Amino acid sequence: MASPVRVRFAPSPTGHLHVGGARTALFNWLFARHHRGAFVLRIEDTDRSRSTDENIVAIVDALQWLGLDWDEGPPTPGYRQTERFAIYREHAQRLLASGRAYYCDCPPELLDRERGVAQQRGETFRYSGRCRDRGLGAGALRLRIPTAGATVVNDLIHGPVTFEHSQLDDWILVRTDGTPTYNFCVVVDDVTMSITHVIRGDDHLSNTPKQILCYEALDYAVPEFAHVSLILGKDRSRLSKRHGATSVQAFRDSGIPADALVNYLARLGWSHGDQEVFSRAELVELFDIKNVASSGAVFDATKLEWLSQLYLKTMDGARLAELAEPFVRAVGLTPPPDRPRFIAMLDTLRERAKTLVELVEQGRFYFERPAAYEAKAAQTLLTVEGARRLGLVIARLEGAPEFTVAAIERVFRALTEELGLKLVDLAQLARLAATGRTASPPIFDVLALVGREESLVRLRRAREAAERTA
Ligand code: GLU
Repeated sequence: MASPVRVRFAPSPTGHLHVGGARTALFNWLFARHHRGAFVLRIEDTDRSRSTDENIVAIVDALQWLGLDWDEGPPTPGYRQTERFAIYREHAQRLLASGRAYYCDCPPELLDRERGVAQQRGETFRYSGRCRDRGLGAGALRLRIPTAGATVVNDLIHGPVTFEHSQLDDWILVRTDGTPTYNFCVVVDDVTMSITHVIRGDDHLSNTPKQILCYEALDYAVPEFAHVSLILGKDRSRLSKRHGATSVQAFRDSGIPADALVNYLARLGWSHGDQEVFSRAELVELFDIKNVASSGAVFDATKLEWLSQLYLKTMDGARLAELAEPFVRAVGLTPPPDRPRFIAMLDTLRERAKTLVELVEQGRFYFERPAAYEAKAAQTLLTVEGARRLGLVIARLEGAPEFTVAAIERVFRALTEELGLKLVDLAQLARLAATGRTASPPIFDVLALVGREESLVRLRRAREAAERTA
């Protein structure tokens, strides 16, 4: 029986989680869940000068927000590379003892000179192998790689990619100061964590032949590899800050629901026919690494917003309230304590916004009295005649037997008829009074949700404003 699938996401905490990293994490997570395997989170923090604890917290937060739960990883100790130096040392010793690695004491100046010569010739620098057979007892530890032949990476996405050994060199496993190099740590970690499939960014493809040679030197089975393409901006260069928001945190803060971002990232370079909208369960069921495109995928913010809007429109009301609440509070407002009422308010807004930030902006008036009226509308509506009409609306609403949407509508229709007006004449007046704006969700719904008492306060204030300008 094949061993159970084990994959890992191995971010370097040198910044926040970028959407490219998030997509790599998602593909690993989907692969693990599809195969009922394990998803491991490992923090690659050996570059101590650029790794910070704040970044680890931010990455962990972002993954949790995306709902990409890991079966092994922090906070359990042993999943940060800086905690694993003894393991790297032990593996280095083994390679040294078996003769698959050797010490090199070439002075840096010599290597720099050789590097300079190679650069001048337009070639990549490769270590000469000068110390291979010197049997030194100290220095930098290098992997002895076969001089002839080639290593083939049988990539699950790219197919076979051949690297001639003549193009590689005896790379350093452990530096003279005793610190293990990045590629060596990755191999030892993947081996000791029993990783079966390495799914990572394309930018690591050139590391893979080096790593495979190290697995072989350690006599370990080589895992499968899948290198996921980079995410590109519209100009087809690598997606970066100059293309706009790129961190998961920025999308979260802009009010994109996590499920929408997950749906979007899954479809970025992966497809299942021409289906665009997937539940998480569908993604888990249908995800196949073989259907990931090998070419770079262009990030399309408009499509992400389209999905975001769709999720806002269709999600369960209680869930929408849960997601919207922090965004209401973030602008200093408070949702009503009556949850069903809050949900009903959001129901009138959910078709009108692409993000939760927009949704709250569209519905501010539910949570606070309008501080001002749209100037142009105030000029045409808040007049002497406007004050008179508002007075009539107020009197009728005060006397209405109930304050439901239907009852409010009846009041407006009857009054419109009596005054020989169009419904829109009174509706726009009431809308301006209740929301400060000329566009809002249906006004009878708005008044009913704001409630009789507060609606009357707002209508009276508008009437006073109209009287003042008259
Ligand atoms: N730490 C690497 C990165 O953040 C990932 C290495 C790997 O997945 O092998 O790009």
